Amino acid sequence: MAVPLRQSVKVGGYILAQRLRRRGKYALVLELEPLFQCNLACAGCGKIQHPDHILHQRMSVNDAVAAVEECGAPVVSIAGGEPLVHPEIHEIAGELINRKRFVYLCTNALLMDKKLDRFKPSPYFAWAVHVDGLQERHDASVCREGVFDKAVEAIHEAKQRGFRVTTNTTFFSHDTPETVREVLDFLNDELGVDQMMISPAYAYEKAPDQDHFPGVEQTRRLFRAAFADGRRRRWRLNHSPLFLDFLEGRIDFACTAWGIPSYSIFGWQRPCYLMADGYAESYQELLEETDWDSYGRGRDPRCDNCMAHCGYEPTAVNETMRAPHKALLSALRR
Ligand code: SF4
Ligand code: SF4
Repeated sequence: MAVPLRQSVKVGGYILAQRLRRRGKYALVLELEPLFQCNLACAGCGKIQHPDHILHQRMSVNDAVAAVEECGAPVVSIAGGEPLVHPEIHEIAGELINRKRFVYLCTNALLMDKKLDRFKPSPYFAWAVHVDGLQERHDASVCREGVFDKAVEAIHEAKQRGFRVTTNTTFFSHDTPETVREVLDFLNDELGVDQMMISPAYAYEKAPDQDHFPGVEQTRRLFRAAFADGRRRRWRLNHSPLFLDFLEGRIDFACTAWGIPSYSIFGWQRPCYLMADGYAESYQELLEETDWDSYGRGRDPRCDNCMAHCGYEPTAVNETMRAPHKALLSALRR
């Protein structure tokens, strides 16, 4: 199943409007990082290694809203760090929902029981809970016991209160088609989450564990085997069919890093959410002053193993708009 109809229609209309205005580069999703502090220290994380004075900084509500309005993205993914550590995160989300942006609040779920009351269910709002595997695997991935159980509890509670709940699962080199299937079957069938996002881990230079980032070929083999037997169609994956083809290695794309820009307390990160080659003061400056041709597989060694959605989902979405028949055939694939 693809993204919700209301979101697909709005994003489709937005892309058409950009094309009519002949804009070659535009934002589809904004990765908003209103803080870098987290209440976990996962081994594969490359976001929390800043000094304390940076980790204590918080983005203001006005700054977050201004960034969303400037770039115009119809979808905002609020990440970090742990967004629920930010005391005004519910206000940031509320302001964006009032502006009819589709907000995904990415969380490790540890603070959801304390903060759930500050949010209201809305077709424009979804939780995106970090779940990397079943109990043992997830707790090992986040380097703390008991986190999987807290996440499952929080998902149940949020669903019971009428929230849309999605999940976000990162796969590493020690994952197998069986571990991918185990966790996605569990989330899809037993927990009944609304949708699931998946990603091969990106090899952050600063991550403490450098031994478990998969290469491109390994990623393709992993997803092709995991998606077989009709599971890909059965799972409620929150990705375009062509991005799933890309993960399986049925199609290859160039990176479209400007499609999912990243805005943090430092400004607009160049070139993407994963790499930090400096910051621009505005999205427009990011678009105009980044040497986009120097990034992507075969151009920058740091991009060689990247198959992350922030680079390739915008390419898949643009291709869907350009050649809808390809996306339809792909969606029907077992
Ligand atoms: S929960 Fe997310 S932000 Fe926090 S340490 Fe883990 S990967 Fe990093
Ligand atoms: S290939 Fe990946 S790491 Fe490189 S610019 Fe694109 S999204 Fe960023």
